[in-house]
Amino acid sequence: MSRALVTSTPTPEDEQRLIDSLPTGLFIGGEWRAASDGGTFDVLDPSTGLVLTSIASATPADGAAALDAAADAQRSWGRTAPRERAEILRRAFEAVTERADDFALLMTLEMGKPLAEARGEVAYGAEFLRWFSEETARIAGRFAMAPDGNSRLLVMKRPVGPSLFITPWNFPLAMATRKIAPAIAAGCTMVLKPAALTPLTALLFTQALAEAGLPAGVLNVIQTTSAGAVTGPLIQDPRLRKLSFTGSTEVGRRLIADAAHQVLRVSMELGGNAPLLVFDDADLDKAVDGAMLAKMRNGGEACTAANRILVQQGVAAEFSRRLVERMAAHTVARGTDPASKTGPLVDEGTRDKVHELVTSAVEAGATLALGGRAVPGAGYFYEPTVLTDVPGGSRILNEEIFGPVAPIVTFETEEQGIRLANATEYGLVAYAFTRDLNRGLRLAEELEVGMFGLNTGIVSNPAAPFGGVKQSGTGREGGIEGIEEYLETRYVGIADPYAV
Ligand code: NAP
Repeated sequence: MSRALVTSTPTPEDEQRLIDSLPTGLFIGGEWRAASDGGTFDVLDPSTGLVLTSIASATPADGAAALDAAADAQRSWGRTAPRERAEILRRAFEAVTERADDFALLMTLEMGKPLAEARGEVAYGAEFLRWFSEETARIAGRFAMAPDGNSRLLVMKRPVGPSLFITPWNFPLAMATRKIAPAIAAGCTMVLKPAALTPLTALLFTQALAEAGLPAGVLNVIQTTSAGAVTGPLIQDPRLRKLSFTGSTEVGRRLIADAAHQVLRVSMELGGNAPLLVFDDADLDKAVDGAMLAKMRNGGEACTAANRILVQQGVAAEFSRRLVERMAAHTVARGTDPASKTGPLVDEGTRDKVHELVTSAVEAGATLALGGRAVPGAGYFYEPTVLTDVPGGSRILNEEIFGPVAPIVTFETEEQGIRLANATEYGLVAYAFTRDLNRGLRLAEELEVGMFGLNTGIVSNPAAPFGGVKQSGTGREGGIEGIEEYLETRYVGIADPYAV
């Protein structure tokens, strides 16, 4: 792949050089092209509000062309040798790793996260390429004699077929590789619509995949400012066989309804409202570290973010004191500043919503222990904020905050803690800190979630199945389960070979 352009301590000149090197078109049928109506849109730096660059904005006609290319490529791509697909993924892993500083800087520029976190996402996102390159050669079926001995049962795995991916802005690389890598492994062709706020990382990644040898038409990329108008017709097109969406529950619900028309297979990675429980017997140092990680990773703009911090009565005052101390020491600055621990929120609307949730919690009776204001000046920065004694029923306990705000609620018994934790329509992830292993196992069984972190503030791992229950979605990404989302099971009944 093209050589790395920037170093780990990028200068403003590096930023410009990287931006100037990016493709700006749509990627359809193996070629970069302008939008059919010549339309473009601006991508902004949320730490300044200034324009980084301007890129093509797909029209419905471009969407149709992308699905044409994916449908045309499906048959030959589905028949490639697994090893060939594995090696493309492996080369892509190496290319992304080699250009880790470029990818990290680009994510910092378009999304705002600090460079250190962006580097973490590059490693995490790239690992899906390596993991699924290793899984490619392990796709298998089974063979059995029917119980009555009168026939043979062959069960085989086939690629699902052309798939549409719609991804959010908060993890611009990893949310794409979590879908693209298993789809390549399984032999599916794709159309990707990245978030309009952060499309640049997807463009650089697409370039890396093309250079790694991905055949024309296998991946088509249609960034646009008209998400519904461009993807809607594709979801109704009988050539499309799969929709994988990561984003809000609100949009996910609508897409599931749209997908019902042609009974499309769907994977939905939707919103979260994670509880983080701290019990009286917890190691408080570990609990505070875990809460900081679960709350402040990605500036709180994560579906896995601890949205409600539930602390048992006996340690509530001490835990809150320590959390306030740690949050107060958290430096808010542009992500390229080496001191930055939290960058800006992604846009003004996101910051306004965070502030609205804080204000309504305080009006409902919560105590503002730290922060609670937008940082004045350019960019969409918000102060690390801690709320204590948040009354049950507050909006902030029911909606995704998506910002650096930690609401603390106290509880008395384990039973009450579990009840509070489960009192949400979401079910993505929960965290708990306790020294009692039996309690940990009880929680693992009682909490209504797809993922549970026991004495840890992070669960994301490419080798593990990521996903939720309830209104956090359906399907799993990563792990040995991740490839199943892109495989169909076909059963072949075979007559008894002795009955001839
Ligand atoms: P969003 O508003 O739902 O948007 C997600 C994607 O859907 C974007 O690409 C968006 O395009 C597109 N979209 C919006 N309306 C659409 C429509 N009518 N038809 C087709 N596509 C449409 O979510 P977001 O604000 O980008 O991301 C934050 C949400 O994602 C949070 O709720 C978070 O919890 C969730 N999330 C979940 C996971 C998980 O794995 N469970 C991971 C990360 C994030 P535009 O960019 O043009 O709006």
